[in-house]
Amino acid sequence: MAAPRPHWLFGDQLGPHFLDPRHGGPDADAPVVMVEARSVLARRRFHRAKAHLVLSAMRHRAAELGDRVTYVRAGTYADGLAKALGRGSAQELTVRHPTSRAALEFVRARPGVEVLPAGGFLVPHDDFARWAGGGRTLRLEDFYRWVRVRHELLMDGDEPAGGRWNLDHDNREPPPRGRDTLGAPEPWRPAEDDIDAEVRHDLDRWERDGQVSFVGRDGPRLFPATRREALSALRRFVTYRLGDFGRYEDAMLAADPVLSHSLLSAPLNLGLLHPAECVERAEAAYRAGEAPLNSVEGFVRQIAGWREYVWQLYWHFGEDYRHRNALRHRAPLPGWFLDLDADAVTANCLSTVLAQVRDTGWTHHIPRLMVLGSRALQDGWDPAAVTDWFHRCFVDGYDWVMLPNVVGMSQYADGGRMTTKPYTSGGAYIHRMSDLCGPCAYRPTDRTGERACPYTAGYWAFLHRHRDRLAANHRTARAVQGLDRLKDLGELLAERDRRDGDAPP
Ligand SMILES: Cc1cc2nc3c(=O)[nH]c(=O)nc-3n(C[C@H](O)[C@H](O)[C@H](O)COP(=O)(O)OP(=O)(O)OC[C@H]3O[C@@H](n4cnc5c(N)ncnc54)[C@H](O)[C@@H]3O)c2cc1C
Ligand code: SF4
Repeated sequence: MAAPRPHWLFGDQLGPHFLDPRHGGPDADAPVVMVEARSVLARRRFHRAKAHLVLSAMRHRAAELGDRVTYVRAGTYADGLAKALGRGSAQELTVRHPTSRAALEFVRARPGVEVLPAGGFLVPHDDFARWAGGGRTLRLEDFYRWVRVRHELLMDGDEPAGGRWNLDHDNREPPPRGRDTLGAPEPWRPAEDDIDAEVRHDLDRWERDGQVSFVGRDGPRLFPATRREALSALRRFVTYRLGDFGRYEDAMLAADPVLSHSLLSAPLNLGLLHPAECVERAEAAYRAGEAPLNSVEGFVRQIAGWREYVWQLYWHFGEDYRHRNALRHRAPLPGWFLDLDADAVTANCLSTVLAQVRDTGWTHHIPRLMVLGSRALQDGWDPAAVTDWFHRCFVDGYDWVMLPNVVGMSQYADGGRMTTKPYTSGGAYIHRMSDLCGPCAYRPTDRTGERACPYTAGYWAFLHRHRDRLAANHRTARAVQGLDRLKDLGELLAERDRRDGDAPP
């Protein structure tokens, strides 16, 4: 019998299902090759906690695989493969469909490589292509319902559990007034081990040698690096924290950045968890009467809806998507933003959120969208640079998830292919959904003057800058009419012009 072909395992394919022949994996008992390529870290300034997490997870997986794996540290992927397989080796190789276009091109260009189906998602590409075919309008809600039916998720026969597909109406409450924290049970957190110590030592050394440079603070590690840890995190979330997930999904509290969010994006995107097991466990909690439907539906929507949708759109929209700049935004990102210098920022919301990113490489979706992304959109920062920033600074950032979320959702740089309107707001939204405005030097209601809120002024200035486009969109036309009623628009615009472009708000 022919020896099984070696299998190259990428650093975001770390769960056992990626190696399971019954789930599209490689030949049984195939030897595994893993390449830790320094060039990936040297090319860009990543958050150090992200570099730590990825290296720790890869090294932990290699330790689990033991003699089955050849783990190579090399400058580049090509060098690493040459080291593992022999230079000029024409040896056949299998690999699971990578998660970025660059990696897919690289493996396809190598002779003798068989690309096996992607492993970390619910919907295969071909099925999505059939669903999206015929020029239909791609709407998240339609896609999500289709996934629910196909995977029999939260279904009672042909009907959605509880009779409604969408329980958003019951979710997204402001945080409870007068409380600093939700008081939810603590999320799962890991204990570091020798592998983490070795990773930290290596990162220190590489930084000292000038080989790499990072932003942000490194740790203690906050996210799972092994399958066992990821399962513990999932179990803890479903058992103790899922109940309040829906209700406060969009709320922000300065002293409680996690609220009831799951913190599962990092292990999901590393491949340590499969999305099916996450949504199935959440549904089981609902069926057992242990979690309310609004929270469970909200969580299933995030994973079986948004995450799958974003993954499919990344491939569907094509390579050109990353260069889209429909609003012609060209301003560079300010130095304080690039350096995560939260202390240089006066606006309490932005300073608080930037500090969360600096310290942990994570914030939940509303700070990403309505504080960080909104600021970039209002100030006209180059969307490709904003995408790069999110990719480098977030522990769960990968090319596939970044492009639709930032180019499309957050920066509207695709001109509305992904969302029907730009996501930005004045300070009133942040005030309603958080406790951040109280201690701020600015006032969310002030458009002009000493205490003018930069989000409120920025919102109107953004509407003014794109007045024609937004007036023609039925979802933003009313806001533009509001702009026409502002008596102090001239003053507001003059004040914004006077501000030094690089100065923090
Ligand atoms: C500007 C912007 C950038 C983002 N960048 C990333 C990113 O780099 N990586 C990433 O995984 N998510 C990203 N998201 C989506 C979302 O913010 C994070 O998945 C979520 O905050 C992670 O925290 P959590 O695991 O506690 O999520 P929860 O709120 O507990 O949600 C559960 C899960 O749903 C999935 N999910 C929800 N929304 C999305 C989405 N829009 N895209 C993909 N998955 C989703 C995630 O896997 C998440 O773990 C981004 C959103 C925005 C608006
Ligand atoms: S007043 Fe404006 S700048 Fe200050 S926290 Fe509120 S929204 Fe942010």
